[in-house]
Amino acid sequence: MAKYMVLGNWKSNGSREAAATFAAAFSGVSKAPPEGTIYGLALPFHLIDADRFGKTWVGGQNVSRFGEGAYTGETSAGMLAELGCRFNLVGHSERRQLFGETVADTREKIDRLLAADILPVLCIGETLEERKAGRLLEILHGQLAAIAHLSSSTELAIAYEPVWAIGTGIAAEPEDVADAHTRIKAHLAGLGFTQTPVLYGGSVKPANAAALATLKNVDGFLVGGASLKASDFDAIRSAF
Ligand code: 13P
Repeated sequence: MAKYMVLGNWKSNGSREAAATFAAAFSGVSKAPPEGTIYGLALPFHLIDADRFGKTWVGGQNVSRFGEGAYTGETSAGMLAELGCRFNLVGHSERRQLFGETVADTREKIDRLLAADILPVLCIGETLEERKAGRLLEILHGQLAAIAHLSSSTELAIAYEPVWAIGTGIAAEPEDVADAHTRIKAHLAGLGFTQTPVLYGGSVKPANAAALATLKNVDGFLVGGASLKASDFDAIRSAF
């Protein structure tokens, strides 16, 4: 696995014009990312186009838990692979909260992605209420149960995204990020995953990227709003 991964998540934003503008501005980095570093963009479906972004990986934000067949509205892992997706988000908190995605769903989606040779990026994170109630570990461990059945040599990545830090402009404090990542890595090691990168997501921006990137157990970022602008994404990725 790469040493660092900096991924953007455009969510349900963006147009063809915006993608072309971004690709042009980011093209230097896309041609030659530093050794051992992966940059990627999780794009809305209509913008997934591996050719456009050079060596910057393209990925999807969701995948069907089914294969091909009579599943109206679903996009299978095989279809995403055909579009050139190298990675794919699974279990983003917006999918869990707004679309009722369960741990069982995330497990099935991860299996589908692996079968299609796409790197799953499993998003985990607690709400503020859960954190205040002292349930941080219970929630994270419960969400990580989606990978417990996999062989420890499976390549995948985890994105820790505390729900209360997403889209709020207020990232988790470095101490909280360090603490959560250390606990996640310990739990992953208990499951046999000693090489799995753990990314941080939640209001990452140019102003806070450096402080977060220096934390020992932070192996990259999953960036939402700030990934829509190439200059911001460029400043963030330079933090590693
Ligand atoms: P923001 O960076 O906009 O807080 O979004 C984080 C996120 O949800 C990335 O998946």
